[in-house]
Amino acid sequence: MKIKDLFLQKSPTLSFEVFPPKSGANFDSVQTATREIAKLKPDFMSVTYGAGGGTSEYTAAIANDVLKNYGVTPLAHLSCVSSGRDTIVDEIRKLQSFGVENILALRGDIPQDAPPKEQWHYHYACELVAEIKEIAPEICIGGACYPEGHIERTSYADDIRNLKTKVDAGCDFLTTQMFFDNNIFYNFLYKIRSSGIEVPVVAGIMPVANLRNVKRSCELSGTELPYRFKQIIDRFGGNPAAMKQAGIAYAIEQIIDLIANGVNNIHIYTMNKPDVAAAIQNGLSEIIK
Ligand code: FAD
Repeated sequence: MKIKDLFLQKSPTLSFEVFPPKSGANFDSVQTATREIAKLKPDFMSVTYGAGGGTSEYTAAIANDVLKNYGVTPLAHLSCVSSGRDTIVDEIRKLQSFGVENILALRGDIPQDAPPKEQWHYHYACELVAEIKEIAPEICIGGACYPEGHIERTSYADDIRNLKTKVDAGCDFLTTQMFFDNNIFYNFLYKIRSSGIEVPVVAGIMPVANLRNVKRSCELSGTELPYRFKQIIDRFGGNPAAMKQAGIAYAIEQIIDLIANGVNNIHIYTMNKPDVAAAIQNGLSEIIK
């Protein structure tokens, strides 16, 4: 199913993200975790592409597995900045041949050993959005957005202008970077709606199960941890099991507040943890059916 159609048919929605292994040696364990998450029957599952040093070769395989074997709609991520056009076209064709109908079009992080910019085929995600629109117009396209601004932004206003360019190139929906303070998200939503961006915005929520990983992700992405959350870390950070429970409870509370305020599409960064995905789903069982 196309995610843009899903959003018209069901509300609220709950989706989960998984990421492929960094090497073939870990493929089996990631596939097992992915399948456990797929069994929870989320509204869709996103599969990252080459994120955090991971390989990109398994994205299509995992997307195909969740669709064919579990009937779960996949959203395959695709990043362009370090790829030539042929690689991108091949990847899109492969996804089409697997029946994948949704792609999250990303620029990707710039690799440290990237060639000079003049040699790149793609510089921004909006170019990938336009490319997908041209060669596979039937695909439903998502884009990334950043309630706290992208780490490389020249200004917050520029970031929103660039986001508008990306949406105008053909995005059907947006998914946010993780955030821990809903007020930041509400301000962002107000600003992008004022700038004429009308597509659905999926709120990306990270249940903090592993403190070290989250601190690192926050540093890399410039995501703020609110005072209330820092207090939780101070109190429970030394006890992984308690921290995990508190992180899940915090995420559920964030989601309930979002839904109460009319934000109906929720995406969970599950970090390949089926128990975390299940705990969130159970905690919302009467709220998201
Ligand atoms: P863009 O939309 O191209 O924006 C990047 C920067 O360039 C911004 O500062 C923007 O303001 C600026 N910009 C954009 N367009 C223009 C323009 N036309 N002119 C001038 N400036 C412009 N990374 C992965 O490698 N794999 C993944 O699977 C992955 N999944 C992600 C999922 C989500 C929901 C999010 C939020 C991020 C994900 N990322 C992933 C990280 C992402 O690739 C990085 O944040 C990357 O640095 C930016 O990608 P983007 O698609 O947002 O880029």
